[in-house]
Amino acid sequence: MSGTRTSTDRARRAGSFDRRHFLIAAGGFLAAAAFPWHRWLRDLRFTAIPIEEHSPNAALGHRLRDGTIPAEAPAGAIEDVPVLVLGGGIAGLSAAWWLSRNGFSDYLLLELEDRTGGNSMSGENAVSAYPWGAHYLPIPNAESRFVHEFLEEIGAITGRDGKGRPTFDETMICHDAVERLWIEGKFQEGIVPQAGLTGDERAEMRRFFDEMRRFGDRKGSDGRPIFAIPIAEGSRDRFRAKDLAELDRMSMAEWLDREGYRSRPLRWYLNYACRDDFGSPLERTSAWAGIHYHAARRGVAANADSQAILAWPEGNGFLAGKLRALGAGKIRAGEAATRISVEGDAVLVDTLRANDGARSRIRAKSVVVATPRFVANRILPEAARAPIDSAVYAPWLVANLTVEDLPGTTEEGHAPLTAWDNVSYYSDSLGYVVATHQTESIARGSVLTHYWPLSDRPAKEARLRAARTTPAEWRERILADLEGMHPDIRSRVTRIDYRVWGHGMISPAPGYLSGDERAGLERSFGRVHFAHSDISGMSLFEEAQYRGVLAAKRVLSDLGRTERRGKV
Ligand SMILES: Cc1cc2nc3c(=O)[nH]c(=O)nc-3n(C[C@H](O)[C@H](O)[C@H](O)COP(=O)(O)OP(=O)(O)OC[C@H]3O[C@@H](n4cnc5c(N)ncnc54)[C@H](O)[C@@H]3O)c2cc1C
Repeated sequence: MSGTRTSTDRARRAGSFDRRHFLIAAGGFLAAAAFPWHRWLRDLRFTAIPIEEHSPNAALGHRLRDGTIPAEAPAGAIEDVPVLVLGGGIAGLSAAWWLSRNGFSDYLLLELEDRTGGNSMSGENAVSAYPWGAHYLPIPNAESRFVHEFLEEIGAITGRDGKGRPTFDETMICHDAVERLWIEGKFQEGIVPQAGLTGDERAEMRRFFDEMRRFGDRKGSDGRPIFAIPIAEGSRDRFRAKDLAELDRMSMAEWLDREGYRSRPLRWYLNYACRDDFGSPLERTSAWAGIHYHAARRGVAANADSQAILAWPEGNGFLAGKLRALGAGKIRAGEAATRISVEGDAVLVDTLRANDGARSRIRAKSVVVATPRFVANRILPEAARAPIDSAVYAPWLVANLTVEDLPGTTEEGHAPLTAWDNVSYYSDSLGYVVATHQTESIARGSVLTHYWPLSDRPAKEARLRAARTTPAEWRERILADLEGMHPDIRSRVTRIDYRVWGHGMISPAPGYLSGDERAGLERSFGRVHFAHSDISGMSLFEEAQYRGVLAAKRVLSDLGRTERRGKV
């Protein structure tokens, strides 16, 4: 019975099974056909792109901030060194270079990170070396004397022509195409927008650049240019003249409004420029600084355009490496200064090793503090601290994307085919530079260094937000950003390495450059001398190097040594 029923039931069930499964299968098929597989596969591939963070040692920095490092003297013998340099960025390395250049190598340089370079450091993988921050040096102005001396010493300047103009090593001059802008669906050469401008917009651009030329030609009562690099080599009137002091107190946006510069493409470009050099938008950048960007560059070269730049696969990591190699003293990386005190003629510096937490004390005759001042203020004795409430340090994201081949090289409408610097008119980032541009070897692929000043909100807020952003979120933001220029970017990227620079660079906010606080940073505290680009108020190689050399000069004077060359 049951068998019959069973078989009948089975037969009935079998019939209904077939129909049901047919319907499910058919429905499934239709759903599958409608499913956006290509996107799913793409996303699957992109979520598999490995991403790794390489941010600076924030934990140690936060211990300094929070005061959790013991205040009492470390146990053990005190190490004696005549001169101690704290911080191995361009300023600290330049101080060491200048000491060595003047025959003094009995110094010790301490660097918190596991290698020197600061925000001019670089990395390397099987495909190419690449920058982690600073990536180029413009052909230097005549007044950038120490830069010339340094470039001569490392062979980047190979000679001079009959007019005394330096000849630069051709392999270091960034070759064409230097930069391009993605605008209105294609690339144009150069970053100043050209496509689709109205007559009025063109006229406004011309008016702006003519005005910048006049600012560039302007001299003070001492005959020196108002806008110079380093800034301190400019006229003493640079902030004294009423109109110039006023420029520093207003923002670039306010100045543009006042002068009637309203065109969107021009303001886009000027905002790009402020974010590029200062990490801050028009609204939060001093107008004096914004004008300096366009008026101060007067590069001199026998074999290059005055606006040409020098670039290397590893960016300014190349220059940091050369400075390190020329310094004849000792360097200890992975060891931070945690406390500075003065006892009689001696300066005592307590240190902490990053890897094992070992603490020690060093006694020096002179010390160069080449850390940012917000760090120095945490480790200096009370009397030596300088108020820096007006200092703004801009956060940045720098990502290195290893790619199988260069995006845009095979697509139509991408002319010129590649450029060193690639920027989108529609993006919040600054685009990317190509690490292999100078070598022209892309047989093993390339590395694209993607720059993103986190300037959409005030620095502190942006820094906190960046600290909370996960690697997966950065991956999506970076790829989505680059997709605007290169829709196929995801299929070319094989890995992403990134670094969040919480305090990437000093931003010249309105009032900072001409203010008393910044001027106060120039002063030494006895035999403790300061050297960092934040003393200049602009984060440029030339400024950091200048500050390092000035501090080294003060050290040489402390030691009663006469310099062989290069008097300021
Ligand atoms: C993303 C980015 C891109 C840039 N691009 C360019 C560019 O293309 N061209 C250009 O000219 N400039 C560029 N800059 C500016 C760059 O900042 C300067 O060129 C220069 O590297 C600044 O050097 P510095 O020595 O003043 O400062 P830093 O690089 O800040 O050096 C300070 C050093 O002190 C160390 N330190 C901190 N605390 C301690 C402690 N307690 N003990 C010991 N060591 C400590 C730090 O680790 C660091 O190495 C860029 C900056 C950023 C962030």
